[in-house]
Amino acid sequence: MRNRYAGTCYRCGQRVERGAGHFEKHNRGWRTQHAECAIAYRGKREAIGVNRPASIADARKMEAST
Ligand SMILES: [Zn+2]
Repeated sequence: MRNRYAGTCYRCGQRVERGAGHFEKHNRGWRTQHAECAIAYRGKREAIGVNRPASIADARKMEAST
């Protein structure tokens, strides 16, 4: 679902504005990621810093090239 509150993207570690990403249930809490990161990291490991693009712009380029 779309995030109802601003938060920090667990994919890239950057701020996610309200409505700009997705909320996911994770363990007993919730976590937030950018809509772009959800696409860019689809099928990839979730940990921050593992094969991540340097920025959302790079994530978008990665997505465009696949
Ligand atoms: Zn992100």
